Amino acid sequence: MSLALISDDRYLEHDEASHPENAARLRALHAMLQDDAALLSRLTQLPPRQADDAEICAAHDRQLLDQLNAIADSGGGWVDQETYILRQSVEIARLAAGGALVAVDAVLSGKAEQSFALIRPPGHHATPSTSMGFCLFNNAAIAAEFARSAYGLERVAIIDWDVHHGNGTQDIFAANPHVLYVSTHGWPLWPGSGHWREMGERHGAGATLNLPLRALTGDMGFHRIFSETIVPALQRFKPELVIISAGYDAHLQDPLGNLALSTAGYANLAAIVYNLAGECCDGRLVGLLEGGYNLDALANSVSATLHTWLDAGRQPPLLSHDISHMPEPDATWLINALKHDHPLLRG
Ligand SMILES: [Zn+2]
Repeated sequence: MSLALISDDRYLEHDEASHPENAARLRALHAMLQDDAALLSRLTQLPPRQADDAEICAAHDRQLLDQLNAIADSGGGWVDQETYILRQSVEIARLAAGGALVAVDAVLSGKAEQSFALIRPPGHHATPSTSMGFCLFNNAAIAAEFARSAYGLERVAIIDWDVHHGNGTQDIFAANPHVLYVSTHGWPLWPGSGHWREMGERHGAGATLNLPLRALTGDMGFHRIFSETIVPALQRFKPELVIISAGYDAHLQDPLGNLALSTAGYANLAAIVYNLAGECCDGRLVGLLEGGYNLDALANSVSATLHTWLDAGRQPPLLSHDISHMPEPDATWLINALKHDHPLLRG
């Protein structure tokens, strides 16, 4: 079995050089791959495709698509103060969502055991009706809906380890019992949603799990949070596919984040989700790039993720001298609160 990698130079065409979410991020990742011939030779590279209107509108209102098209057709502009659209950006965003669909296809068709899509613009802040926070279409949500409609999956889990709460993904699936949304995120931090008491609504009650982490939570805190809440929650939910909203701005060096994962800490998370997918769903695991704004930290951490998955999750957890042992806030209160109150963790 193999690890499929989806990316494309056309993702570089959505570029505003003065903005943190610019094409240099993906150039750094492509350069990392070119410099690591041994890694590249072990990957099965697949081209993305364009997501069509129906695939996008499985997660978004038709009006959002019309609004973005109108901005692009007028030559570009800003959807909000921090989210830019160039003339070609909607087509690139379609290709980003379509890259996520190819990644899901690769794993569910059996072509690959895992897949990772190096795509942009990112997606997890895009709500059903609103593009925001550098995100145009919600790639992870479109991918999860595709897995359900094209392959008939009953249960998909999205684990979002970006430093920001994926408010858009949470909104899209808040009332949906078929998609478990799990997020670790800095707290307090933009966009301000993702309180641990937000657990889903109506039929989706219990299918949202939020882990708001205090500033400077790092490798040890993440390891505890994953081992003591996310792993048991997924063991109970029993997903048939695990999608990672893989943001790398929880890295200590990230200029936008407030958490303190090291590169080895990210490798540890990659190992945990690899083993979890092995246990829950025959290893079916899809990574989708979200944030990450320090180019070295981003490239090193994506590389660590891919190496860990190729090496069958054999990153020795917390044994590596690379893991950070700096003092961290204690997450015990959060773990205990969720074990007491969350439907997937209590009793
Ligand atoms: Zn982020």
